[in-house]
Amino acid sequence: MKIALISPEVFPFAKTGGLADVAGALPKYLARHGQEVIIIMPKYQAIDGDRHGLTDTGLEITVELGKETDRHKLFVSDHISGVKTYLVEAQNYFDREQLYGTPNGDYADNSLRFGFFAKSVPEVLEAIGFEADILHCNDWQTGLVPVYLREKAENGGFLSNAKTLFTIHNIAYQGLFDRKELPKLGLGWEYFVMEALEFWEKVSFMKGGIVFSDAVSTVSRKYSEEIQTPEFGYGLETILSSKRDVLHGIPNGIDPEEWDPATDDRIAARFSVSDIGPKQECKRALAEENGLAYSTDVPIIGMITRLAAQKGLDILSKCIEELVDLGIQFVILGTGDNEYHRIFQSFKEKLAGRAGINIMFDASMAQRIYAGSDMFLMPSRYEPCGLGQLISMRYGTVPIVRRTGGLSDTVTEFDPRAMSGTGFVFSEYTAGALTETVKRALNLYKDETRWRKIVENAMNYDSSWNRSSAEYTELFQKILGE
Ligand code: ADP
Repeated sequence: MKIALISPEVFPFAKTGGLADVAGALPKYLARHGQEVIIIMPKYQAIDGDRHGLTDTGLEITVELGKETDRHKLFVSDHISGVKTYLVEAQNYFDREQLYGTPNGDYADNSLRFGFFAKSVPEVLEAIGFEADILHCNDWQTGLVPVYLREKAENGGFLSNAKTLFTIHNIAYQGLFDRKELPKLGLGWEYFVMEALEFWEKVSFMKGGIVFSDAVSTVSRKYSEEIQTPEFGYGLETILSSKRDVLHGIPNGIDPEEWDPATDDRIAARFSVSDIGPKQECKRALAEENGLAYSTDVPIIGMITRLAAQKGLDILSKCIEELVDLGIQFVILGTGDNEYHRIFQSFKEKLAGRAGINIMFDASMAQRIYAGSDMFLMPSRYEPCGLGQLISMRYGTVPIVRRTGGLSDTVTEFDPRAMSGTGFVFSEYTAGALTETVKRALNLYKDETRWRKIVENAMNYDSSWNRSSAEYTELFQKILGE
């Protein structure tokens, strides 16, 4: 099969969250299993062309958007093994400091930025002569790809047999814009109806992806059920239930080569499930870096997160001081909304010496936290899949999570009798339930034999892409009617 994965962010080129990890790893594993795969993404200013081996293909594409027609250069990189990544240049859209916006809000012209990107995709495929069987679109930024594809392939010709899969990584971010944007996107008013792009008087890019794709998927089984309910569907639950027959839940994996404590040279010492001792050196270094006193008796809880309402920061803020008083240290790394920057800045001062709080995006520090912490906290209000719990398990850092979405699918409560399970799980979205669960973890931490077992269970959990990429292959075959 010929597959084009389309994503607004791809690791290692540009990343704000888990989508980039998925978009960078899944194609690699599909290619290893014999599929022909390419990636298409925007060429952002933040991408270091030299470091990521970008070369100019010499090709240019023409994209008509509203009244504008422009020519755009196409770059390519071989940095993801077995897969070519094509990057579309559009300086007025993508030469910005950030990918989607600043802590004060989204860029005002995001409809045009990602409308342009979506419209460029069929042109890129034609320019490079890649007649894809499947266009695999990811999140709202690519929601208009099936729409523009339909327009382009309407009268037969290139890509007229292509099918589309739209994957929802987070339904809360829908790409909703004023109706005035529609003509600027070169789309007629026939699209401004409930059966197409209209969503409560706005234009919804995500709805475009859901309505006009041949199949829809999301990133865990539980979340694929949750988004069909009013609590989690953010207004799209009805349309999703009506597409139930073509709605699938495939859990994300992580790239075991990218996240491997036995070979990771960004952490203080290397370790594995059979040689766990050196993890203590990682903990010591992490404590020191964060101004904490290192002690084997005091567990460090790590947290790496976008600072957004989804992530359970409101319940954490209510109990973090009490938790620290129990004799636990925290190391938090995160960036995001201004509101949370302020809250965590004040904890940074108040809890100095007991919690290290780092308000920034720093991939290397993330690695040091995964490796050096004893436990990893994800008290999310909702979580489509979540990668933090998978990465932390791989580094022998025991997850404490709320029972929602992918967290519920991937972490099982430790059973001290059967000695099974990989973490600690709570259901109620309250500071009280979170505190109780951390106390449970703290008690087990004091029991060396059992703690050793839970760490081993976590490290042995299979979260590799081999399994999930095979599920995607099956789904693609089903979409193609094979
Ligand atoms: P989401 O996609 O909702 O942000 P995930 O758990 O699926 O959440 O993925 C988050 C990814 O982004 C993980 O790889 C995590 O390590 C990384 N990450 C999040 N915040 C930061 C940060 N401030 N610095 C470095 N990496 C981060």
